Amino acid sequence: MRKIFMAGNWKMHMTETEALDFVKQVKPLVKDVTDKTMLICPPFPVLSRMHEALKETNIALGAQNMHFEDKGAFTGEVSGLMLKAVGCKYVILGHSERRQYFCETDEIVNKKLNAALKNKLLPIVCVGESLQQRESGETFKVIQAQIKGSLDGLSTENWKLVTIAYEPIWAIGTGKTATPEQAQEVHAFIRGLLPKDVAQEIRILYGGSVKPDNVKELMAKPDIDGGLVGGASLKPESFVGLVKY
Ligand code: PEP
Repeated sequence: MRKIFMAGNWKMHMTETEALDFVKQVKPLVKDVTDKTMLICPPFPVLSRMHEALKETNIALGAQNMHFEDKGAFTGEVSGLMLKAVGCKYVILGHSERRQYFCETDEIVNKKLNAALKNKLLPIVCVGESLQQRESGETFKVIQAQIKGSLDGLSTENWKLVTIAYEPIWAIGTGKTATPEQAQEVHAFIRGLLPKDVAQEIRILYGGSVKPDNVKELMAKPDIDGGLVGGASLKPESFVGLVKY
């Protein structure tokens, strides 16, 4: 039985004051939630204070990206070693915005994946097709290549630590959600690509304009195990609505 996983990707939003205020408001409202994994991935400068604020809560802390080296001359980068040291449990890897604006390839995502696992961070690996790829019938080919390239070479033990997020690029931040049927179709396809001995254990999250008013129908699908949510995870009442759908 896979536990539903609701993850908030705050992207480049929230100052320290705003983030702490969010936690203050959300904390009492989700304290009784035990049937779901809850995660917030704020920007780097807020991680340390968020770690303090989330202690004694059932909300985990994650980062949105990391470098694949532990340290070195990589100006502006942050390593998995550093994320672990500030209390991160999870890290998002290969988000489409990283792939699109920062030229991240499957090969780079795979190097980050190995570095995350080495530093005992739980990776959430994102895949997803563009509108053009969907319209030209390439969705499955694109997803297969991303899964193969990004998750290459994992041992069975490490596969069990991975979460996958299917995020069609055309649905991210656009208000245009994939229908539950469209999402389920790709989630089932992804599960079919996973090693047989771990396929039923791995959580596959859907991301792309998930909101409190569409979350329930998406989560009702058998291969959708949670959501990776951007915009709707930024407001306390909306985050609570996502978790308590
Ligand atoms: C995301 O940040 O991964 C995302 C899916 O954003 P949104 O929910 O705003 O579409």
